[in-house]
Amino acid sequence: MTAEARQAAADADATDATTLATQWGRISARLHTELGEADYRSWLHQTRIGGCDGDELTLFLPTRFLRDWVRGQHGPRLTAAWRAENPAIRHVALRAETMPATAAALAPVAVPPPAAPPEPATRAPELTGALDPRFTFANFVVGKPNEFAYACARRVAAQPACQGFNPLFLYGGVGLGKTHLMHAIAWDLPASAPDAARPPAVAYMSAEIFMHRFIGALRSQSAIEFKDQLRGVDVLMIDDLQFLVGKDGTQEEFFHTFNALVESGKQIVVSADKSPSDMPGIEQRLRTRLSCGMVADLHATTYELRLSILEAKKQQSGVDIPDKVLALLAHKITTSVRELEGALNRLIAEAGLFGRPITLEAAPVILQDLLRAHDRRVTIDEIQRKVAEHYNIRLGEMLSPRRARSVARPRQVAMYLAKQLTSRSLPEIGGKFGGRDHTTVLHAVKQVRDLITKDVTLAEDVDLLRRMLEG
Ligand code: ADP
Ligand code: MG
Repeated sequence: MTAEARQAAADADATDATTLATQWGRISARLHTELGEADYRSWLHQTRIGGCDGDELTLFLPTRFLRDWVRGQHGPRLTAAWRAENPAIRHVALRAETMPATAAALAPVAVPPPAAPPEPATRAPELTGALDPRFTFANFVVGKPNEFAYACARRVAAQPACQGFNPLFLYGGVGLGKTHLMHAIAWDLPASAPDAARPPAVAYMSAEIFMHRFIGALRSQSAIEFKDQLRGVDVLMIDDLQFLVGKDGTQEEFFHTFNALVESGKQIVVSADKSPSDMPGIEQRLRTRLSCGMVADLHATTYELRLSILEAKKQQSGVDIPDKVLALLAHKITTSVRELEGALNRLIAEAGLFGRPITLEAAPVILQDLLRAHDRRVTIDEIQRKVAEHYNIRLGEMLSPRRARSVARPRQVAMYLAKQLTSRSLPEIGGKFGGRDHTTVLHAVKQVRDLITKDVTLAEDVDLLRRMLEG
């Protein structure tokens, strides 16, 4: 036997069905422990081994939705686990066993009772079209910026088509929770249905898919069926309506469907990135129609909300991440909750894959690219703001003559950081702190430099603040 033939035979052994099954047994036991019962059951439990082709192993998931989810959330973890278990495997391909999702995802979805977020565990993790089981009210962290939109969504879920809330128009920037709230409504509807045996039929789709389907229906001369199907639902949700802009025919269709549904007492929920009045390219009559129910906006997140969201996600993940790392993320990643989640997931993956503890030193290295995108030049104003926020004092105290320790120490820290992180001179810095003398600044710098060698808490605070400010 040649060396290659021997190698091929060995590889074949390494990838026969029994070997793979045994190895999958070990891997899945590990994943089970790492992810926890609920996550494992929801996502990986139904994985089936396909087989090996060369160095590529195929795993089957029952639906495209599950496949996409597992690929996005656990793809690298699965590949790493298989590589570690079986050196003959270099790649892991995830495939769906079902038919193309266009049929499944687009059909109006009757959410089965009981509606099925994976938690609490007694509810079966049913997959209904494109609804994401994580997007529930229970998983939505409520804070000032989103409490109004949240309250409206809850109201609609509890009482579809109620006076004043139809249509519900949710708008806000990218990644602020519009889709999450819409799915949450869909998940919650069966629970509030007066007749449990007949839960409301929900159709949820993005405006793009709506358009795509509508055009498809026109082409295949099944437009009437499509309309009937749509008009047969109790709740119609169209996500990202801004994509309907300029598509006159589809807008027209949407407008008629919309009217027909509202007139027959059905609920409409729409999301968009702008308010109806600010959306360009939307016909006036549709605009008017959209504004006549409840218009609720999701505001940009605040530091407090970002921190609460991170804390909630950390709890769910079961991975230990120091509070200071969460604070760092909440300070640095301010644009969208999606990015914030992405950063946290990256840290969690790193910890899971390599068993590395996530420290304040490690986090910025792991998240280098993400954080760099958020980098700016540090200003003294910013330093004062962050330090005041951190020590919970008013910004004005930075400039005030008060000498009480509770404000004097944070002020000194801010001066120290201003010296360290900006190129301003001592007199310039003094000027920014209520017109103080440069010797005062010098004293503060020396004092803080001194103190951080003795006072661990202060050293950590300063370190954290510096990282937050400069990334
Ligand atoms: P949008 O549709 O507004 O672009 P999404 O609803 O897709 O945003 O939200 C982006 C991600 O952030 C999702 O994973 C979602 O679960 C999460 N998210 C947004 N807001 C919250 C919140 N208040 N609490 C928990 N998760 C949130
Ligand atoms: Mg969305």
